[in-house]
Amino acid sequence: MTKQVRLRFAPSPTGNPHIGNIRTAIFGWLFARKHDGAYMIRVEDTDQGRRTDGAVEAMLESLDWVGLDWDEGPDVGGSHGPYVQSERLDLYNDAAQLLIDSGYAYRCYCSPERLNQLRLTQQERGDDTIGYDGHCLDLSDSKRREYEESGTPPVVRFRMPLDGKSTLDDIIFGHLEFENRLYDDFVALKSDGFPTYHLASVVDDHHMGITHVTRGKEWLSSVPRHVQLYSAFGWEKPEFAHMPMILAPDKTKLSKRHGAASLMDYRDMGVLPEALMNYLALLGWSLDDRTEIFTTEELIRSFELNRVSKSDAVFDRNKLDWLNGQHIRLSDDNRLADALTKFWDDSAPDFDEAPCDEQVSRVVPLVRERLKTLQDAEPLVKFVFSNTVSVETDQLVQRRMGIKDTIAVLEAARDGLASLDKFDTQSIEDLLRPMAKDLDVKVGQLLGSLRAAVTGQKVSPPIFESLEVLGRETSLSRIEEAITVLKSSEPGGSE
Ligand code: GLU
Repeated sequence: MTKQVRLRFAPSPTGNPHIGNIRTAIFGWLFARKHDGAYMIRVEDTDQGRRTDGAVEAMLESLDWVGLDWDEGPDVGGSHGPYVQSERLDLYNDAAQLLIDSGYAYRCYCSPERLNQLRLTQQERGDDTIGYDGHCLDLSDSKRREYEESGTPPVVRFRMPLDGKSTLDDIIFGHLEFENRLYDDFVALKSDGFPTYHLASVVDDHHMGITHVTRGKEWLSSVPRHVQLYSAFGWEKPEFAHMPMILAPDKTKLSKRHGAASLMDYRDMGVLPEALMNYLALLGWSLDDRTEIFTTEELIRSFELNRVSKSDAVFDRNKLDWLNGQHIRLSDDNRLADALTKFWDDSAPDFDEAPCDEQVSRVVPLVRERLKTLQDAEPLVKFVFSNTVSVETDQLVQRRMGIKDTIAVLEAARDGLASLDKFDTQSIEDLLRPMAKDLDVKVGQLLGSLRAAVTGQKVSPPIFESLEVLGRETSLSRIEEAITVLKSSEPGGSE
């Protein structure tokens, strides 16, 4: 029987989840789902000083919004818990003791002052390796006792081999070799009993049965340490896949100053989660050199870690918007209505009344082809959800027309619309197109005046559809209103 694939996403709760983290989470999730594996969330909170309140909740909310699910985690539990590192301290302490007992680690009592001085001296000398000098490696029993009695709390350092190489065959970066002599004896357990990232990560990946470690390439430099830890414990290594970074268009690290860097900012800008998932999946991965639009199911079917690129990806907001527009067009009526309702619930648009579900459904076909983001919908359909529209003579009167002609056009339209049997898009179009000819004006002139009268907007969805959505009664009263405005601005009018 083949082993079940198990992957983890291991965020540190230190702030708002950003694009880079979530893209890495998505790659692991796609791989786990494709291989019917398990996916879990593990909170790496061993750096208690950097913990921020609400960060775990924000992370889970972001993952859930973008469409990820997990089988095990701090909120849902599971067979390999707890899923928060600060609740697993005994495990790391036992592991550190095991390393000490087997000679792979030792207690170090060096003070921060000594370590500081050591670094300065190494820098001044121009040493090619800056790091711990092994001062506490072979302490005599009496010296150790002296330290213990003085109450200096020790750290536990892992003893890196002095020579040889640590090697790893990474799924994405291929064969990697690191000279062990360039790595110092690193801290595995801190003096407060908390592990460092290295110890916690290796111990947890082992105990949680992780088969594939997917993480950002900034962790490549940890590889030799992790390789040596696995070997000291006598544990089989999981597979590793280090992910390329996501850069800003100016090729620097993507950050807040390039616009939104946190995931939820994109929700607030009207990006659909399935579009963001699609876009993020393409930041460093491709199926071929053509296919760009993927549903989440298609991504799961197509994704493979070995097609992730080594090269860093560049974030391109225009492409995200384009892809979002494509996903909006692909959405069926219910999906788009649901997305707009949620978006308007959160963004409080400038409508006179919050539209009910039925009203939202009616405007969906009007806007579907015209949106890049959900934000673009509000100005387009404001006229539907406003009790009144304000319109001025200049807007109503089209080029090469006077006030009088415009009044005549609007009156004819009003009368025609009032007497239509069915007030639907087709009947409205069949009425108005020939009417322009009868009135000896251009279709564009008639429709332009009518658009201004009923929407008050320069840009609106197609006018025939707009009239249908607005309904006969509202359309007629707005036309009437416009005629009054025109009459009052005629020479000798009441204004
Ligand atoms: N806690 C690390 C981070 O937030 C995770 C690294 C890993 O996945 O091993 O980047």
